[in-house]
Amino acid sequence: MTDTASPTETAPRFDAAAIRDQFPILGTRSHGKPLTFLDSAASAQKPQAVIDAVAETYAFQYANVHRGVYELSERTSAAFEAVRGKARGLINAAHDNEIVFTSGATEGINLVAQSWGRANLGPGDEVLITEMEHHSNIVPWQLLRDEMGITLKVAPFDDHGVLIMEAFEKLLSERTKLVSVTQISNALGTVLPVREITAMAHAAGALVLVDGAQGVPHLAIDVRALDCDFYTFSGHKLYGPSGTGVLYGKADLLAHMPPWKGGGDMITSVTFEKTEFAAPPMRFEAGTPNIAGIIGMGAAMDWVAGLDQGGLAAHEDDLLAYGAACLSEIPGLRIIGTAPDKAAVISFVLNYAHPHDIGTVLDNQGVAVRTGHHCAQPVMEHFDVAATVRASFGAYSSRDDIDALVNALEIVRELLG
Ligand SMILES: *Cc1c(COP(=O)(O)O)cnc(C)c1O
Repeated sequence: MTDTASPTETAPRFDAAAIRDQFPILGTRSHGKPLTFLDSAASAQKPQAVIDAVAETYAFQYANVHRGVYELSERTSAAFEAVRGKARGLINAAHDNEIVFTSGATEGINLVAQSWGRANLGPGDEVLITEMEHHSNIVPWQLLRDEMGITLKVAPFDDHGVLIMEAFEKLLSERTKLVSVTQISNALGTVLPVREITAMAHAAGALVLVDGAQGVPHLAIDVRALDCDFYTFSGHKLYGPSGTGVLYGKADLLAHMPPWKGGGDMITSVTFEKTEFAAPPMRFEAGTPNIAGIIGMGAAMDWVAGLDQGGLAAHEDDLLAYGAACLSEIPGLRIIGTAPDKAAVISFVLNYAHPHDIGTVLDNQGVAVRTGHHCAQPVMEHFDVAATVRASFGAYSSRDDIDALVNALEIVRELLG
């Protein structure tokens, strides 16, 4: 290392270039331009290790799981089941049987709503969410509301996108049976104080579900330290395959929850008169799962565990600070979501162009951003915008990506300004 002062010299030393080289797609081009991928909050790209794990499963180690007595099926089952231990380690759960495989965070939330919710909620019982939830943490509760007469309460955030804790606390009562909150807002990047929220909810006698879809890729998770009752996340936002995910539930809660889907693999015996259900987690995993996908999710967990965690956090903080500094210098640009505790997401609008038109111009420059309501329409409503442009980061993102975005926004100004 020399002492020459280049702009990147002040960036924390985390070898994002070496990480980036592990993602084949980041070497491709879009509209003839090098791909600048700034949409990791929608889905992260996959490192070669994950691609290989999925391909090798299909090539050498594939059969249905939990069924065959033959060696190949046993090997596949062992590789599949080993992922429970990896997931337990990732979030510091106490037992492997607290890890239920799902198709993603959406299914994890629906599982809690349909299994725990139907068994434990009744008319007048309240579920408390926040104004910054993803639709997948709103709609499952509305379905229960319409079907069972529960009440859905919504805790507001302020104009920076920070949850108003006094308002949240006031909404807690003895009628509150569940608090279901995101750990990081996918639209605003706000990091919620889920440990404090959990303590308040428990004091009021409510259980807590944490939507960790954005949390797991960016924060170290310890479900026992958080003391949340349920925690869910998606494999595809953690550099793993789509169609995979995890629901963590405390063992004694899962043990008392009824199945929500019936089928193979979730029973111990079936006659036409009576069926005995398997213990958790199998009780909640009816049917053939996404075998290669779950094994690939395990490879993604290994890959993430191999990163320098402190370096990664500092790298992502640097990108956020650098991105916010660069973007706030652009005339007419307003950043939506300015919470002091924020992660990996910058949403913005320009006062002279619609986000979809901005997105199209950026796309022509090879810059992939998300435009729209980000499955969080109430957030858009709060800020009185129909949509935003969202740039979001992953481990492979770099200051170069932000520079490419800023340069492409210059073309937006020329064309639409
Ligand atoms: C992506 C996301 C979800 C839904 O995840 P799926 O993988 O689509 O099931 C839920 N909550 C948040 C905060 C998200 O970002």
